[in-house]
Amino acid sequence: MEHMASHEKARKAMVERQLLTRGIQDPKVLDAMGKVERHRFIPENLQELAYADQPLPIDRQQTISQPYIVALMSEALEVGENDVVLEIGTGSGYQAAILAEICKMVYTVEKYPELLDTASSILREIGYENVIGKTDDGTLGWPEHQPYDAIMVTAGAPNVPKPLIEQLKEGGRLVIPVGDNTSQEMLKLTRKKDHVTEQRLGGCRFVPLRGEHGWK
Ligand code: SAH
Repeated sequence: MEHMASHEKARKAMVERQLLTRGIQDPKVLDAMGKVERHRFIPENLQELAYADQPLPIDRQQTISQPYIVALMSEALEVGENDVVLEIGTGSGYQAAILAEICKMVYTVEKYPELLDTASSILREIGYENVIGKTDDGTLGWPEHQPYDAIMVTAGAPNVPKPLIEQLKEGGRLVIPVGDNTSQEMLKLTRKKDHVTEQRLGGCRFVPLRGEHGWK
């Protein structure tokens, strides 16, 4: 009981000190980050760091992103209750949970079956009925459910995978870190009628996006 109260307190402090002070404004994002129990997605031995201002390791040498980065990317997606989104890189499932709070439907693709299994069981336990995941190479997107209102890639890509642009609706957004294997720049691409616009959102550091249109 005491433990629960401390997680709740830490979560509130996370929203105030890490998100609001750094300029996150979208109320849907702030509400979701205040609601989703991040500690449930964090390994047992790191529970006391669940709401810390940093990324944390999960299985398979992967990471759950820093809370601020999750919020920044979610805000950049510009999504709401009618939107269908695709996430590449399920990892812990935390980002998928944040999107599930905001959107109509979340499709998520993960390379490692063990990670998808763990994430899926937590998401099911919490009760999300609007998240569906599969194990596959996410650089190919998930053609069956296209077109998407928005797509988020949570691993660092060498280039923007073409299939992801092709699976966006007109007006759809793609948020993706692009760069080399030491650092990347967060890009927001918007698909217009016959071209794509690009916005730069700043430097970041992610684990590599593997696959056909990622790192070999
Ligand atoms: N969104 C996650 C963070 C994941 S870290 C969270 O909230 O916890 C990046 C994830 O991308 C890792 O789990 C990694 O296995 C996965 N990944 C890397 N390349 C991939 C690919 N081509 N397709 C799908 N997932 C991939």
